[in-house]
Amino acid sequence: MGRPPSSGGPAFRFTHAEVAEMEEHLRHLNNAIPHRDVIQGLADKFTASPARAGKISVQPKQVWNWFQNRRYSQRNRTTRGAPLPQGKMLPTGAADEHHSASFGAQSASSVYPTGKNSSNGGQVDFEAKSARDGAWYDVAHFLSHRLFETGEPEVRVRFSGFGAEEDEWINVRKCVRQRSLPCEPTECVAVLPGDLILCFQEGKEQALYFDARILDAQRRRHDVRGCRCRFLVRYDHDHSEAVEKKLVHLEMSFLGPPLHLK
Ligand SMILES: [Zn+2]
Repeated sequence: MGRPPSSGGPAFRFTHAEVAEMEEHLRHLNNAIPHRDVIQGLADKFTASPARAGKISVQPKQVWNWFQNRRYSQRNRTTRGAPLPQGKMLPTGAADEHHSASFGAQSASSVYPTGKNSSNGGQVDFEAKSARDGAWYDVAHFLSHRLFETGEPEVRVRFSGFGAEEDEWINVRKCVRQRSLPCEPTECVAVLPGDLILCFQEGKEQALYFDARILDAQRRRHDVRGCRCRFLVRYDHDHSEAVEKKLVHLEMSFLGPPLHLK
């Protein structure tokens, strides 16, 4: 958000009126991503507006990205007021145990079909890696589960903001994990070369969340804007390298394979 695209071309920007309309949807849906029909409708409406008609067409993906980004930044503001549990940021066994305790004892059938309503009563959100583009998306529902031929458990995932056409069978061990949260500016000190993080990669058409490895961390003095550090990362899915200013999501990535199902 707000960052110019890294590769050529003028940055696409939503108008104030468009942002206001999308914010209204977000409020109405209690910060959930609208259904794809709504996203499509907004894209069509914006494209047909006097300001854009005949000049630029707004893609549903751009609208969807706006919602996803806004949700993450809002959740960052609303859920991070409370202090984090000790050691949550560190790639230690303690964090891993915490995670195992939450999920390891439950079978796939007890966890996945409900997804968001876990047995502890709290809301547990998941993200899953799409085989189509290798990017991580929020999970709306787990529809069913099966054991693949190799014995690997798989779940049928409905992605948040997408319809049934985009459902995928996804490997539970490798490609489903508890949803990553944005990192605080002060958490950059815990980021070390070799760490796996979730990064926001901006392309020409869209910006998506991909796993990346930290190659090098260049520490800089923080100022009122927060972290000014730079991180050289290599993206897992295309092996491209880039210098990123901000690590969007962090902590769950330290937990390794997120789910420890037997
Ligand atoms: Zn920093």
